[in-house]
Amino acid sequence: MQKIIISESQKKILSDHADNEKPNESCAILFGIVDGQKTIVKEIFLTKNIDESPVNFTISNEQLIKCYKTAEEKKMEVVGIFHSHPNSEAYPSNTDKKFMYSNPVVWVIYSGISNDFKAYVLESDILEILIET
Ligand SMILES: [Zn+2]
Repeated sequence: MQKIIISESQKKILSDHADNEKPNESCAILFGIVDGQKTIVKEIFLTKNIDESPVNFTISNEQLIKCYKTAEEKKMEVVGIFHSHPNSEAYPSNTDKKFMYSNPVVWVIYSGISNDFKAYVLESDILEILIET
């Protein structure tokens, strides 16, 4: 079974980022390595939600390009996309699902309601995967 490894301190960085960006969605890019079924997050690149919306997020092309460049320099891959749902459960919205098709990495969502993280990949359908610390 597929899983993603995110440490407690990384979770803290992400939940703090989500809290800071409230009432809007927050977003980040996760760098790391993929080892078979296991995705290991090594570094987090916090990004700005240029939509400034509580129900959507967009990362600017400039930040995306910078992210991919930094990942390459560090000999890592972009392994995941993080965003928060300040007012709903940590489940992909229809918009998220659409973008999961064009960005087939692990999608990590943090819910401001349950204060919980969930992770998903897109196979033939949306599949929830395990998060390990
Ligand atoms: Zn979403």
